[in-house]
Amino acid sequence: MPRTRIIQCADGIPNPDGITDAVGVLNAGGLVAFPTETVYGLGADAFNQAAVRKIFEAKGRPSDNPLIVHVASLEIAWHFISDISEKGLTLASRFWPGPLTLVVKRKEIVPSLVTAGLETVAIRIPNHAVTLELLARFGGGLVGPSANSSGRPSPTSADHVVQDLNGKIDLILDSGPTIIGLESTVIDVTTNPPVILRLGGLSREDIEKEIGETHRTRSKDLLKRSPGTRYRHYAPRAQVVIVPHQDRDAFVKQLEHLKDEGKRVGAITSSEDLNAVDRSPSHLILSSSVDRYAQQIFHALRELDRSQVDCILVEGVEETGIGAAIMDRLMKASENKSRHNG
Ligand code: AMP
Ligand code: MG
Repeated sequence: MPRTRIIQCADGIPNPDGITDAVGVLNAGGLVAFPTETVYGLGADAFNQAAVRKIFEAKGRPSDNPLIVHVASLEIAWHFISDISEKGLTLASRFWPGPLTLVVKRKEIVPSLVTAGLETVAIRIPNHAVTLELLARFGGGLVGPSANSSGRPSPTSADHVVQDLNGKIDLILDSGPTIIGLESTVIDVTTNPPVILRLGGLSREDIEKEIGETHRTRSKDLLKRSPGTRYRHYAPRAQVVIVPHQDRDAFVKQLEHLKDEGKRVGAITSSEDLNAVDRSPSHLILSSSVDRYAQQIFHALRELDRSQVDCILVEGVEETGIGAAIMDRLMKASENKSRHNG
């Protein structure tokens, strides 16, 4: 494939000719990376098996990891859904378009490659003007996993997509950095109470305000219901070590220990105490606001990889609101490298 084409959509405004070209690529079974409010997605026609297969190849994604279908409206979502619970409908009407993916009973015609053979399909309406226009003009559903190489930190800018997928996909719609910076929250609404399968851009607290109690468990049984959650994910090449929020002593101790082992160490911190320790060029300081931290974290992990450190010491955040999703990502990034890399 020749070099990937990049089309600018300045200030989040759809570029009409660019959208026309992207729809042409999708109709021809090609791959288009698109911006969303969470991270950049890699789009292919959900009903075109050959196109969907190309996604797994381009990303190096295990085929037992199902994909999220992106649509422009609830009306089009019904092409994929056979049944949805009352609570599912409540969440859809309250939070779509937005960073929430619903796992629902699928229609027979949804290709099994999309759902990894499950009886359910994951679906959402993303909240981004460029991609809503793309989806509306395309008219169907686009599978849209994150537009990165499988296992790497998710892409929050077009530049990250280029780093991982240049020459492997046809087109990128570049609309600048993404607003939320973490993937959507995934919730299975086929059970009561519904089960949160992946924390993300919408907090559990906000969901529970609408539908009451939800479950969140890491039991093996549930992981089988959402195979993607089992793989090592979101990880830079360097080893990731997490230190607790505002724990200066733990940070200094780890830093010295790793340096004693002869490692080149990078650091990511966000609290005043830790920001002041060891101001080397590979010490990146993120915002003390968790929302901004979420927006910046994947970029920071990628930047430190580029500076070729062996190990990244990351200051954690409080596990409330989007902070819980940030900690989930950091934990997965820090998992043992020997585990199978999704
Ligand atoms: P990604 O698009 O790479 O951010 O990942 C999609 C996430 O949604 C993965 O964790 C998948 O396991 C999960 N997922 C997709 N489809 C389903 C489904 N039908 N049932 C449960 N989880 C799903
Ligand atoms: Mg992903």
